[in-house]
Amino acid sequence: MLFVLTGPSGCGKSTILNHLLKDLRNIQFSVSHTTRPRRPSEVDGREYHFVSKAEFKRMVARNMFLEWAEVHGNLYGTSKKEVAAKTRDGDLILDVDVQGARSIRKCRKDAIFVFVLPPRAADLRKRLIDRGEDDPAAIRRRLDNAKREIREAPSFDYAIINDRLNRAILEFEAIVLAARCRTDVQDQTIRSILRSFSSPKR
Ligand code: ADP
Ligand code: 5GP
Repeated sequence: MLFVLTGPSGCGKSTILNHLLKDLRNIQFSVSHTTRPRRPSEVDGREYHFVSKAEFKRMVARNMFLEWAEVHGNLYGTSKKEVAAKTRDGDLILDVDVQGARSIRKCRKDAIFVFVLPPRAADLRKRLIDRGEDDPAAIRRRLDNAKREIREAPSFDYAIINDRLNRAILEFEAIVLAARCRTDVQDQTIRSILRSFSSPKR
């Protein structure tokens, strides 16, 4: 199954996602390509595949992305190859901005879309300031974008209000676990249980 985690910058997507990846099995993170410079704490191929603008544009021209978008001046894209390879092994989560989630909705109707919201504008401002990656003008731009993006939240499947982090993590895990219990997803298992009732060793 494909899960798409989206929401405004600074709402807590990567924090929630990293906890879920530690807690649950058989679920992977889709490593996007980006032209953003690597941060000191990041490793190429772990958080992102860091590529030049020319390389990114070559990939766009070759139609290698499921979706791509410009986010705060840098290019980000989800490669089709990454999604195909990792969904063969189990469940996959994408962490994309709201434009990216909107594009994926058009081509992957089967995906499950989760929108993360900050409890209030003031909390988002504080988290962006505390994260320490943006100057005051960039923070104002991110808050303006957040207002536009949150207007779209009702069109996604689930909303998580990231007030208390622990509860937000549990809510995301509950969404993944509930999706795994769907009868269409469990179809093969149900059939195999049923077959065991026809076995002579019953
Ligand atoms: P995103 O991936 O959506 O851009 P991050 O996961 O980087 O957001 O979170 C932005 C900042 O907010 C980080 O410094 C993170 O530690 C902090 N944060 C995330 N969730 C909470 C929360 N529930 N309460 C307080 N701070 C939080
Ligand atoms: P950051 O540079 O802080 O890691 O991420 C900035 C924003 O880019 C986040 O909102 C994140 O969700 C988004 N993002 C990361 N990868 C992708 C991607 O492949 N596609 C799109 N559309 N957005 C992405």
